[in-house]
Amino acid sequence: MSTTEARNVLVTGGNRGIGLAIARAFADAGDNVVITHRSGEPPEGLQGVICEVTDSASVDAAFTAAEEIFGGPVEVLVANAGITRDTLLMRMSDDEFDSVIDTNLAGAFRCARRAATGMIRKRRGRIVLISSVVGLYGSPGQTNYAASKSGLVGLARSISRELGGRGITANVVAPGFIDTEMTAVLPDEQKKAYLANIPAGRFATPEEVAAVVRFVASDDAAYITGAVIPVDGGLGMGH
Ligand code: NDP
Repeated sequence: MSTTEARNVLVTGGNRGIGLAIARAFADAGDNVVITHRSGEPPEGLQGVICEVTDSASVDAAFTAAEEIFGGPVEVLVANAGITRDTLLMRMSDDEFDSVIDTNLAGAFRCARRAATGMIRKRRGRIVLISSVVGLYGSPGQTNYAASKSGLVGLARSISRELGGRGITANVVAPGFIDTEMTAVLPDEQKKAYLANIPAGRFATPEEVAAVVRFVASDDAAYITGAVIPVDGGLGMGH
């Protein structure tokens, strides 16, 4: 994989938040980018395909549509789509637990499985799974979310072992507290408590996560696989 050669990059949930910043960062660097979205139009200047990551047929159709746009296979997958359904353990319903696992963990699995076909054929690929500091740090009220995000570590490490010899890397990027719609809904008290524990003394922008994802997907990161890369201002202390 050459850093100067444009790659075919698919970003799930790239219509807003961190995913959008990641998609724009790749596009600005000259890569071919397709984002997935569930409804409406893709953001201006980006090509989009419809994808519901809880549905294997939808994931397959989205990849097929992206491959048509690219005229070739997806070479960089950024599995970013994710949700929260926070509540305390004792109050958490099966549906609240299952839906978060199905979206965040099984959704990433479905996308990685579909992406692997083309990557194996090309003998090159980058799989970047967007986890969270919460996956390894834990968080009260987020048992479902933390379980889904730590599951991504096992997923990436097993993919690394299966496909490492084929020029494919699989890594986890674990953001801390990033200013997006997902975190805008958190109570001020919770935000204050997080801030007190972040050595960097501030929250991050989606662009700061995007820069790390781009590095992990670059040629320079060819020897990094199965890694968990924190972008959390020191909150998780490197886990
Ligand atoms: P947003 O809520 O802003 O965006 C989430 C994205 O995921 C949207 O594009 C959404 O699509 C998409 N999505 C959700 N469910 C599905 C689904 N079932 N199928 C397809 N797409 C889906 O979140 P962020 O940008 O903040 O987060 C992006 C990722 O980063 C997530 O995985 C999140 O867990 C992780 N993260 C975020 C942190 C933060 O502080 N913000 C910290 C650590 C990790 P739609 O627009 O259709 O809803």
